[in-house]
Amino acid sequence: MFAKILKYNVFSKSKSELMNYISNFNKVNIVSGNPEILYRGLKDDLLFQVYTDPYSVIIPDGIGTVIASKIVKDPVKEKIAGIEVMEAVIQECEKNGKSIYLLGAKEEVLKECTINLISKYPKLKIAGSHNGYFDLEHCDDIIQDIQEKKPYALFVAMGCPKQEMFIYKHFNALPCSIFMGVGGSFDVFSGKVNRAPKWMIDFGMEWLYRVIKEPFRIRRLAIIPKFLLFVILNKSRKNYK
Ligand code: UDP
Repeated sequence: MFAKILKYNVFSKSKSELMNYISNFNKVNIVSGNPEILYRGLKDDLLFQVYTDPYSVIIPDGIGTVIASKIVKDPVKEKIAGIEVMEAVIQECEKNGKSIYLLGAKEEVLKECTINLISKYPKLKIAGSHNGYFDLEHCDDIIQDIQEKKPYALFVAMGCPKQEMFIYKHFNALPCSIFMGVGGSFDVFSGKVNRAPKWMIDFGMEWLYRVIKEPFRIRRLAIIPKFLLFVILNKSRKNYK
C-alpha cells in the first residue's frame, strides 16, 4: 500500500483506494507529498516528524514523486493531486452532511473560494473559515472557533511550512477527522489561479504551466531535480532519511 521513498512511506494505490483507506482513521493528516514538501522534510526535523508520524498519510502529489518511486523501484500506481483529494473529501462531506472549515489564503480569495464551493456543492456545510494571515503563536480565537464548530474536515491553505506547523501544533486539540494542508488550492477554487489544462496534467506537466503563469516559482521548481538526485544517491542507503 506504500512505496518507500527515502524514509517516507508514500501511498502507492489509486485515489479511490486512498479515500477508502483514510475513512478508517479517527483522525488523519493528509500530506501532499510533492518533491518540494518532501525535500523540505529532509532538512527540517519537525517537518520530517510531521510527515512520518503514524497519523499522517503522504500522497504522491506531483510527477517528481512518481519518478522518485520509479527510481527506488517501488512505483506508485498514479499521481494523486492534493487538490483532487480535497475535492473528493468535499464531495463526500456534501453527500453525507459533514462539514468543512477553510483556514488560509487572503480574505478576498477565501470569500471567492467559499462562494464558488457553495455554488458547485450547494448542500455543502462550511462550518467556518478564517484567512491565513495571523500569528501562529497567538491564534487562540481561531482554535476556539474550530473547536466550537467541530468540522469533519479542516483544510489549511497557508503554504509550507506554516500550514504543517499549524496542523502539528493543534492536531490533538482540534476535533476534526481530516486535516489537510492544501497550499494554493483556495486560490484555484476562488478562480484567481487556474489549474493547467487536463492534457498537461495528464502528461505530468502541471509544474510547467505553473511556472509559465507564475515565473517566481522557477526557483522553487529547482528543488525537483535536487530531490531526485538525492533519491538516486541515497536509494541503496537504508538508514538515510
Ligand atoms: N498564505 C497564507 N498565509 C501566509 C502565507 C501564505 O494564508 O502566511 C496563503 C497564500 O495566500 C496562498 C497559499 O497560502 O493562498 C500558499 O500558496 P502557495 O502557492 O505558496 O502554495 P503551494 O500550492 O505552492 O504549496
